[in-house]
Amino acid sequence: MHCPFCSAPDTRVIDSRLSSDGGQVRRRRECVSCNERFTTYESAELNMPRVVKQDGSRMPFKAEKLCAGVMRALEKRPVGTEQIDAAINRITHQLLAAGEREVSSSKIGNLVMEELLALDQVAYIRFASVYLDFSDINAFREAIEKLEQSKSPRKNR
Ligand SMILES: [Zn+2]
Repeated sequence: MHCPFCSAPDTRVIDSRLSSDGGQVRRRRECVSCNERFTTYESAELNMPRVVKQDGSRMPFKAEKLCAGVMRALEKRPVGTEQIDAAINRITHQLLAAGEREVSSSKIGNLVMEELLALDQVAYIRFASVYLDFSDINAFREAIEKLEQSKSPRKNR
């Protein structure tokens, strides 16, 4: 990379070490031209896709919002925090792994429904009733049918 002091095109790495958590590489560099030293930090860039809502508007993905929706559905349900965290992680991981720059809110909703279906049936119905909106009776009926199917045979994850 270019030297930030004299803009010479060449700098050389004189030291390179991993941060304690392993998520970042710290490099000490020296300019071959003016011999100034500086430090660079390198880490993976994980960009969550933007969310495209039904009306076509876009907004940044907010993990807190996803969490809040899932937690609301699971309120007072016998599901442990660890299970909830794991479900949220699976959803965000799938969104990241897809590598898309944009994702529809309905895609996210479906991922949440899948996780809730495996976690807790009451939460699943609660979420479906809010997310699918009772105006779409067919979609809601499908959600119920999915629930019926998942009951037998019992799905374990
Ligand atoms: Zn320089």
